[in-house]
Amino acid sequence: MNPSQATLYETLQRNLDTVTWQMKCACAASERSLEDVDLIAVTKYAAWEWVQALAELHPTFGESRPQQLADRRPQLPDAEWHLIGQVQRNKARLAVRHADVIHSVNSLRLLERLSRLAKEEQHPVRILLQVNISGEASKSGFDPQSLMSRWSDIIRATGSHLKVTGLMTMAPQTDSPESVRPVFAGLRQLQQKLNDLGQCDELTELSMGMSRDFEVAIEEGATLIRIGRSIFDGLSNESPG
Ligand SMILES: *Cc1c(COP(=O)(O)O)cnc(C)c1O
Repeated sequence: MNPSQATLYETLQRNLDTVTWQMKCACAASERSLEDVDLIAVTKYAAWEWVQALAELHPTFGESRPQQLADRRPQLPDAEWHLIGQVQRNKARLAVRHADVIHSVNSLRLLERLSRLAKEEQHPVRILLQVNISGEASKSGFDPQSLMSRWSDIIRATGSHLKVTGLMTMAPQTDSPESVRPVFAGLRQLQQKLNDLGQCDELTELSMGMSRDFEVAIEEGATLIRIGRSIFDGLSNESPG
């Protein structure tokens, strides 16, 4: 291992340690267990060298573009890969072929398409439904009311090779994480309402929280947090590795 590689590993381990410590504190504050929260390392802006090094330290990755997922996943097949970004129509097959979990299912049409393709590809995929809790026009996702009212259509569309395991949301960008707490609480309440409908297996996953707001998200019940910048902090894209 050359010196710059050693620095890369040290930086990644230090960042992972910091995030894990923050996760622990947020769990302690909300009387939750650290085992109930999974850290997804978001690699969308990360150089490939960083991802390879991180794979020796951490098992779960998130990509936002299906094409980059398709390029990277086969090279690290033992990691668990989550697709967290929008799935365009023409990328849906790549998505079901390479993702273990897709967080960004934002319409019934997309769900139907993924269901058909997952069957064709013979690849089971876990699905999270993306919800636009904040109601911002710029955010993608189901409207909470229509998700409730179309729930039986959604269950029907899921099919044999998909499994809806939970919900995902993105909070508005803000300098004060405290201000987005209601968004995270809103996703948890929606999950509860859908579970009360009782038409499918219990939804257990809540994918919410990024580098800027994950502690608040954990306090509000996140089970999957999606962290990019904080994991790769201190590494420069100009000279990876
Ligand atoms: C990029 C991205 C993240 C990670 O954001 P950071 O601020 O880098 O932690 C999380 N979720 C989604 C959907 C993203 O696109």
